[in-house]
Amino acid sequence: MRLPMLKIDIPRDVMQQQFDKLSNKRGDDECWIWGVTGRRDYEYGSFQYGGKTYRAHRISWALHFGEIGHKLVICHKCDVKGCVNPKHLFMGSQGDNMRDKWAKGRQGQPRAEEAK
Ligand SMILES: [Zn+2]
Repeated sequence: MRLPMLKIDIPRDVMQQQFDKLSNKRGDDECWIWGVTGRRDYEYGSFQYGGKTYRAHRISWALHFGEIGHKLVICHKCDVKGCVNPKHLFMGSQGDNMRDKWAKGRQGQPRAEEAK
């Protein structure tokens, strides 16, 4: 299975503006849940621009750390898909992502935040 790699083609100021508006920034160690109405924490946040839909955590990465390499995926340390806190994200290969999921799965409880 191959995920389509979307090139992020959004002006930086637009990214920043939307991010500031929708990221619901909190403390550095807390999850920032992307704030589109009706979305849930366990779903990826989405960011729309120019007729394309991007995943919000990828936008967060691009904004804070730069371009995402081809074939690389942005993963969550916190396992909260809707989270866009750049400190909770890491870049890895699709294989890393699978190993990470597998490792976390073996530990049982996901570290999802329960407080709303
Ligand atoms: Zn998080």
